[in-house]
Amino acid sequence: MPELPEVETLRRSIEPALVGRTIRAVEIRRRDMVSGPGDPVGGFSRAAGAPTPVRLAPTWLLEGLTIRGTARRGKQLAIEAEQSTAGRTTGDPSGDAPAVVIQLGMTGSVSALDRNADLPAHTHVLWRLDNGRQIAFSDPRRFGLVRALPNGTRDAWADLGPDALTIRGKALADRLVGTRRAIKAALLDQQVLAGVGNIYADESLFAARLHPEDPAGDIPPDRVALLATSVRRILRQAIERGGSTIRDYRDGSGNAGAYQRSHRVYGRTGLPCRSCGTPLAGLRVAQRATVFCERCQPRNG
Ligand SMILES: [Zn+2]
Repeated sequence: MPELPEVETLRRSIEPALVGRTIRAVEIRRRDMVSGPGDPVGGFSRAAGAPTPVRLAPTWLLEGLTIRGTARRGKQLAIEAEQSTAGRTTGDPSGDAPAVVIQLGMTGSVSALDRNADLPAHTHVLWRLDNGRQIAFSDPRRFGLVRALPNGTRDAWADLGPDALTIRGKALADRLVGTRRAIKAALLDQQVLAGVGNIYADESLFAARLHPEDPAGDIPPDRVALLATSVRRILRQAIERGGSTIRDYRDGSGNAGAYQRSHRVYGRTGLPCRSCGTPLAGLRVAQRATVFCERCQPRNG
């Protein structure tokens, strides 16, 4: 499942194809992969009953609008249009500009394609640009979603915690005060910290030498600061390597990531710890497979 480094790599790979281009047409090939204003916020697959989809206005998916750029918060990727106010275009990145947010879910991806390129299998939404190029959102397993946000990302992203790529120790400590749950569960909670998933939680906890089940609120401030530093460093390194490709992640040009070769714990249960040689242990935290070193990451260590 794509986490912050993969989404950021994808964002950087598609942005040059989009900036300054006008969306000539939007083709929605699967309506239930799009959520507009008035539709279930989490998408139709996770909504109770069978909600009737609203009628989507083409501009909600940016048809006819010119793209100002892309943005990212945690694992969410936004394509933002220029906002015209009283006939003027403003470049202010306020979160108010019309946007679509693409949530990749398990297997979602976004591809920047030439005019006559074949579409990826399971393409659900296609944006045709004024220069003939195309941006395709595809998702075989369909846990992803395209959210149409004509009023911008501000409200949609209000529930997300601070972005993990820039998290500082004090800000992280403030969000862990008083919580008894396991530190790994807290790291995975997008309202605490936006962008970390299973891979980078395990890698960051190993780097900070914290046991994944330690109660988050009991960790001393200097150790939380080390954790925040580890999160930032590992995410930055992963972005430099184009993210991690475990099964099918690709950036917008079809390139796989390479950071999976640098994983120190994720996916390595039973293999020797790269620091001390002890076989790595596995357990489940917050319903997620978790790998750690019992020697390097002792409980309440
Ligand atoms: Zn070890």
